[in-house]
Amino acid sequence: MPFENCFPGPQKIHLETFGCTANIGDTLKLQAVLRNAGHTIVEGVQDAEVVILNTCTVTRRTELNVLKRLRTLQAMGKAVVVAGCMAAAQRDLLTDVLGGEVLLVTPTEIQKSWHETRDSDLDGVISVIPIALGCLGTCAYCIVKQARGELRSYRPAWIIEAVSSAVARGAKEIRITAQDCSAYGFDAADGVRLPQLLERLTALEGDFHIRVGMMNPATVLPILDQLLDAFESEKIFKFFHVPVQSGSDEVLRAMRRNYRVADFVTIVTSLRDRFSDCTISTDFIVGYPTETEAQFLSSVRLLEAVHPEKVNITKFSPRPGTEAETLKDLLERDKKRRSRILTAHDHDLSCERTTAVEGTTVPVLITEQGKKGGVIGRDPAYRMVVVHEELPLGSSCEVTITSATSTYLIGRSSYQDCSSEGFRACATNV
Ligand code: SF4
Repeated sequence: MPFENCFPGPQKIHLETFGCTANIGDTLKLQAVLRNAGHTIVEGVQDAEVVILNTCTVTRRTELNVLKRLRTLQAMGKAVVVAGCMAAAQRDLLTDVLGGEVLLVTPTEIQKSWHETRDSDLDGVISVIPIALGCLGTCAYCIVKQARGELRSYRPAWIIEAVSSAVARGAKEIRITAQDCSAYGFDAADGVRLPQLLERLTALEGDFHIRVGMMNPATVLPILDQLLDAFESEKIFKFFHVPVQSGSDEVLRAMRRNYRVADFVTIVTSLRDRFSDCTISTDFIVGYPTETEAQFLSSVRLLEAVHPEKVNITKFSPRPGTEAETLKDLLERDKKRRSRILTAHDHDLSCERTTAVEGTTVPVLITEQGKKGGVIGRDPAYRMVVVHEELPLGSSCEVTITSATSTYLIGRSSYQDCSSEGFRACATNV
């Protein structure tokens, strides 16, 4: 029986999400599926009869945060449903913590229910559209593989229909997501890979921009030239999230990442040669069990050599059931020290970079309400721009950058809605 029918009659349901864009997308789908099944989605946990926790377990820290929230909800006497990666990869742990019967909803079950309706809520003017579940990777440290499994690409027609429906309902930013977007179509016989899919999506009528999610260097390389051509479309943010994980080939081999540092550098150089104004986002894992001090310094050198615009740094933590769990872990203090060093280097580089755009004027698509008032928008390179003015979500305008932090820009708008044609026109003048 589909999970949405597992409740004794219509319920008031509150949802909370941990983790990545794919999980946020799953929550938006869960809301639509539950509503279609006759339940009511409530904003506040206090008004809920049932709370669904859409979980992530990519690191030990996240696992502990999820378990803490579960115990709090239990203490509040709430009926709890656990969805997401932990529900698939750590069932025993959850039944131990929650004691006895607990409704677990895996990512695959969410997709199954979604495929019935292919209806998904919008987050304001943002829509999150999954293009595949699982991946081709065999990364030695990754628990996500256990939760989301082998690559299953969704049919191009489904994705096109989902994007059209979201745009028709007012979406201006489409976040396409997967564990590895550049692996899209490798499991299909129709020859439609990510570049071809992007060409079909950008051919759609409408006023929207696409942000492409995470891409593993190993699956980017075989499609790099076509990908560069597809990203030429003004409807695609020049944002490339390509996790490198380490600057040492020995560590990448131990991680089973299936590419070399030189491959990553080739990808970044090609992206920058084609798009002078773009955002390269990457991830580093520091303190992998086999990582020596010298190999760690290779990551520092790679960071300095490549200057990614956005860097996520994670300390290695052994995940249950992974190959890396069997390796002797490094001392926590060494992992902390390496994380501090790499973070400091990244901070210096990003301050240098963001201050360089102060005083310039960029076209910005307004996509979110600011947490402390004002709005948040994205420029064509998907940089975050905060504007302390009340501007309509989905509008586009020129913004003069007045200051910058290491992670976002702040600006003043010359607001007269230049609409997306204007945004695209402005975008091409950058
Ligand atoms: S590509 Fe590797 S890190 Fe990414 S989800 Fe797959 S196994 Fe995990």
